[in-house]
Amino acid sequence: QPSGSSKPPKPSFSKQDLKHYEESGFSWSEEVQAKLASVFQLTKFRPLQRTAINLSMSGKDLFLVMPTGRGKSLCYQLPALCSKGYTLVIAPLVSLMEDQLMYLKSVNVPAVTLNSSSTKEDSKRVLAGMIDKNSPFKLLYVTPEKIAKSKLLMSKLEKAYNMSLLARIAVDEVHCCSQWGHDFRPDYKLLGILKRQFPKVPLVGLTATATSSVLKDCQKILCVQEPITLTAPFNRPNLYYEVRFKDSDDCTDQIAQLIRERYKNQSGIVYVFSQKDAEAVATDLQKRNILAQPYHANMEPSDKSLVHQRWSSKKIQVVVATVAFGMGIDKADVRFVIHHTISKSIENYYQESGRAGRDDGSADCIVFFGFADIFRISSMVVMENTGQQKLQNMVAYCQNVDRCRRAMMAVHFDEVWDDDECNQMCDVCRHGNEYITMDITKQARDVVTIVEMASSVDEKLTPLKVCDAWLGKGPAKHRKTIKVTSLSRLEVESIIIHLLLHGYFSEDFSFTPYTTHFYLKLGRKAALLKNENHSITMKMRRMMSQATVKKVSESAGEKSSAKVEGKRPADSDGKKSVAKKVKTLP
Ligand code: ADP
Ligand code: MG
Ligand code: ZN
Repeated sequence: QPSGSSKPPKPSFSKQDLKHYEESGFSWSEEVQAKLASVFQLTKFRPLQRTAINLSMSGKDLFLVMPTGRGKSLCYQLPALCSKGYTLVIAPLVSLMEDQLMYLKSVNVPAVTLNSSSTKEDSKRVLAGMIDKNSPFKLLYVTPEKIAKSKLLMSKLEKAYNMSLLARIAVDEVHCCSQWGHDFRPDYKLLGILKRQFPKVPLVGLTATATSSVLKDCQKILCVQEPITLTAPFNRPNLYYEVRFKDSDDCTDQIAQLIRERYKNQSGIVYVFSQKDAEAVATDLQKRNILAQPYHANMEPSDKSLVHQRWSSKKIQVVVATVAFGMGIDKADVRFVIHHTISKSIENYYQESGRAGRDDGSADCIVFFGFADIFRISSMVVMENTGQQKLQNMVAYCQNVDRCRRAMMAVHFDEVWDDDECNQMCDVCRHGNEYITMDITKQARDVVTIVEMASSVDEKLTPLKVCDAWLGKGPAKHRKTIKVTSLSRLEVESIIIHLLLHGYFSEDFSFTPYTTHFYLKLGRKAALLKNENHSITMKMRRMMSQATVKKVSESAGEKSSAKVEGKRPADSDGKKSVAKKVKTLP
């Protein structure tokens, strides 16, 4: 396996060559610009999009490496609309394709798919459309399995090629070709057939995560001669990342104070969980003399654009928004993005916080990390296949005390990362990384016992009830049997989160016609606590844990079980770490 730590390759093109493609004097430029607005409802290109589109329209083969959520799809969808015939898109998952098709349908772009769940009739219609010179669709999404297994599909593609209807080939998640990538799919290995059979059709490979060695491998596998590689920088050096514990009583006060003082006369966004929260927090901020207005999906389109407009022209300072506020926002001088509630995934957080500092001036991204919010979001994403895992990654990002926030994001996105690059632009790096490692085995046993006892009498406990019970604030009938803790609520919450992230607890959902309830149940590792030799340690912020150290060691009745560790940022000098995707938490 080649070393994965090298940077992606320099484009074989010189910078000068590339410059030419950044411009808009091409024969297709006018149409491309017009459709960007009329079809996709977007006003401006993001970095590299125009270059990628121009290269692809010029018939070049291209690898595009861009972080998730930056808009890679547009780089083949727009060329597809501006070319004769149709574009063949290879995507690894049927669910991914369906998301795209749904979106394309909503903007009236004709697109179809051929996959294992297509009906006979659909397939027939699609196969006929492939060789119809009027091209009833502009994009055809297929799985790599289809290419590998369907001779019928290949024969239609060949015919289309000869009729000059096969305009372009897009291979999404192109890193799946390589065994050295993290998502290798055997059928991707067979996609070389496309370039061998259709050498004149330009190919674009897209990925968020590929090292140069993986890209080289993909190039070989796909049989592309000399692809041009465009790499969008992942790191946003001008953004300062910070996580604060959320105390629901004074969260809004803290936010108001920040806005009034640190961000005086500067524009920003406060992201909230729900439409109701958007209204409530906006009102709370207004009461504190801040020019804030809510924005959410349930508002009239005219009201939405009015808020957007007022904010863009600095008539209001803050938009208090749900995730609905995102599309088409291109204000350059956003100085702060504050999350009143954590995002549902790191992908979302990266994208939402990334709306700050587009002008390259410094900007802050602060997230308020609240216990109850975790379960609100967890219930909201209960239907999504990977919803809980993604949320856990976000919670782990917030719970983290000892790793650079940027490094965590880089690891998540499988980026090559050099610890020096943060430049003290996150709270962990800036505050000297101080934390305490504590043995929480005894605490874990106590709190797990509470849940165990409840379930033995068929009682389900919400996380809040578990906290209350452990703090001795539950119903009286329980108090005799429970070992009440002397830890603070914040500490109790933090330990419960730790146990949830590490599999000692797990989520137990229950559905009523109106809501989804979240209860805690024993996780797959809970039984390990019965073993006397099993121990659990946890890192806690020093600030929060000052009092705890004493209490934990007192209750352990022995020598202090807490150890202070501190790592100055200077320690990381010269260290290079190769980030790997965190799929499951330790
Ligand atoms: P990727 O495939 O890189 O993860 P997508 O293509 O799914 O990202 O796009 C992510 C989001 O970015 C979509 O909601 C898309 O509409 C939006 N987007 C793409 N290009 C632009 C642009 N030029 N301006 C604003 N939003 C854009
Ligand atoms: Mg994509
Ligand atoms: Zn950092």
